[in-house]
Amino acid sequence: MNDKYFIDKTKEILKSYHLTPDKNPPHLPKEEALKVLETIRELINYHDYRYYVLNQPVISDAEYDALYHFLKSIENVYPELITPDSPTQRVSSDISSHFEEVKHLAPMLSLDNTYNEEDLKDFDRRVKELSKEEYIEYCVEPKYDGAGISLLYENDLFVRGATRGDGEVGEDVTKNLKTIKTIPLKASFSKYDIKLVEIRGEVIIQKEDFKKINEERMQEGLSVYANPRNLAAGSIRLQDPKEVAKRPLQALVYQITYVEGNSSKTHYENIKMLHKLGFKTPFEYMKLCKSMDEVIEYCKYFESIRDTLPYEIDGMVIKVNGLSLYDKLGFTSHAPRWASAFKFKAKQATTIIQDVLFSVGRTGNITPVAKLEPVSLGGVTISSVSLFNEDFIREKDIHIKDTAVIERAGEVIPYVVSVVKEARPHDAKSIVFPTHCPSCGSKLVRTPGEAAWRCINISCPAQVVLRIKHYASKDAMDIKGLGDAVAQLLYDAKLVNNIADLYDLKIFDLVRLPRFAKKSAQNLIDAINTSKTKGLSRVLYGLGMRYVGLTTAKKLSLAFKDIWKISKASEEELMNIEDIGDVVARSIREFFDLEQNIEIIKRLEKAGVVLKEQEHIGKLQGIQFVFTGALSCCSREKAKEIVESFGANVSESISKHTSYLVVGQDPGSTKLRKANSIGIKTITEEEFLKMIE
Ligand SMILES: [Zn+2]
Repeated sequence: MNDKYFIDKTKEILKSYHLTPDKNPPHLPKEEALKVLETIRELINYHDYRYYVLNQPVISDAEYDALYHFLKSIENVYPELITPDSPTQRVSSDISSHFEEVKHLAPMLSLDNTYNEEDLKDFDRRVKELSKEEYIEYCVEPKYDGAGISLLYENDLFVRGATRGDGEVGEDVTKNLKTIKTIPLKASFSKYDIKLVEIRGEVIIQKEDFKKINEERMQEGLSVYANPRNLAAGSIRLQDPKEVAKRPLQALVYQITYVEGNSSKTHYENIKMLHKLGFKTPFEYMKLCKSMDEVIEYCKYFESIRDTLPYEIDGMVIKVNGLSLYDKLGFTSHAPRWASAFKFKAKQATTIIQDVLFSVGRTGNITPVAKLEPVSLGGVTISSVSLFNEDFIREKDIHIKDTAVIERAGEVIPYVVSVVKEARPHDAKSIVFPTHCPSCGSKLVRTPGEAAWRCINISCPAQVVLRIKHYASKDAMDIKGLGDAVAQLLYDAKLVNNIADLYDLKIFDLVRLPRFAKKSAQNLIDAINTSKTKGLSRVLYGLGMRYVGLTTAKKLSLAFKDIWKISKASEEELMNIEDIGDVVARSIREFFDLEQNIEIIKRLEKAGVVLKEQEHIGKLQGIQFVFTGALSCCSREKAKEIVESFGANVSESISKHTSYLVVGQDPGSTKLRKANSIGIKTITEEEFLKMIE
């Protein structure tokens, strides 16, 4: 039997019995149950294998839950039909051979899942029947979606930490768990007369941390992690504790499974004690409920606020509070009878990828976005999802028209967990990555070792605001008053479409805008003009070439002294400079190979931006020249430009602020007379040329 058989059969059963995880499955006559039971078990075994062994589920968690739930409900009605090899009779295992095996003092069992009010009421009825108690107090707490662990404390010391394993035997990951700051290495259990205690908990990663890790990985062009749970589970089983320590792991504990010497009578008291001893626990969210109705109400409330918690929860756990009842209630073959998990609506679903579009990020990254057949996921309709980058698409082998399993975990953006290759139609199309920017049409580049294709056109509309902000930043051209908001404003007003446009801005352009008064407009124009003489290294940095930071920009500037020389340098020539390797050299080359970028640099030059290395910058700071007569070296305009590049300025008329009157050929008499009368020094053109060398 092939994959297609199992997938089709699964869909058929889900459909014909209208199975969803939050609805009770239909009651079947025994004859029909007998007929279908074997098939369901076979399907679940197949899906378990896909999920646990291959790590490639072909149905969503919700569909799996529905199927599993169906099997359980049949077995509940006809317990005589339960076979020892039924999937309901075993607990899953995550054992691998890297770590030493340890036996838990008390087995780490899984909980029976409930999906709706009816299930919970059944649970309540069973508890009351078996315990022969009329009144039961329940303790309700969030169910964390992380990696299960058990912690052993002996004489107040943390002596052993283990993964869940198969529930009986786990892996010894003590060294790794010791790196987690929320696990106390010492806790004063002796105050409570406890000598030995085994605690159960979960290692989790907060949603924000998870998001950050994936964002960083995307920035670095690495593949992204699927969800916080997988990352947490992978992290505690890393070989090197130093690597584990770098991950933002937290441990929450929520059950004492074995204890020698304690006299606590309730679960609530136990958690309160752990809380006081410095463990991270669900204590603040725990609620004691006097009836199942109260339990249901609290579960519903928590489902409505689940997204506001800093970490993932996938349901609530309802435990009988009185510990004395635990023995009375006992266990089934795989789960305690004194607890039940109420599962929230799944945040996984399958849907069809209809098309893939490409968008340009503010930093030039090209992101593929899949258009989906709209699907409801945890109460939100999802119609598109990011595919991150080309590697992600290749790794998951995503095609247009594929059936995709998508997941939305808390505030984490929805993403594609996998595609169901076996369900791929014949006319499915592979995704062709664009060679040119969808926003500006310029050729895209991809640095070796990076996942992202990017547009490096300095005037690409999708990136222009960020480009301007960077160009104006303190370490670049230091244009005060030109931050994100103003850059956006200028762009929206269609005044500035690239950095060269800044130098065409006029004061009356600005005063029309809502944010500007005459004074602030003048200040911005002044700051833009001043930026012209900041020097080559700052311009290079301001252009925002990938991998060209301030230090590299300075080295380039010193080595080549002229932007046009850099623009013509080969990769080999660039690599002759200290600290410039092939990746940086290639990035620089790619930048200057793009005609649009050269156009902008030409415009900067025309606007008077200094594009040459000048050790002399500031040498003539504060000095004012006045010219009279014609210069033989160059035009007045050119002379003015040169003087300004030295930090000095030029005035049309003599005043007490004038430092030198430069006398050329056929000078007029007015300026000379004035200079003489107020004692301003006159110099010849030769003397002037010497000053500016
Ligand atoms: Zn572009």
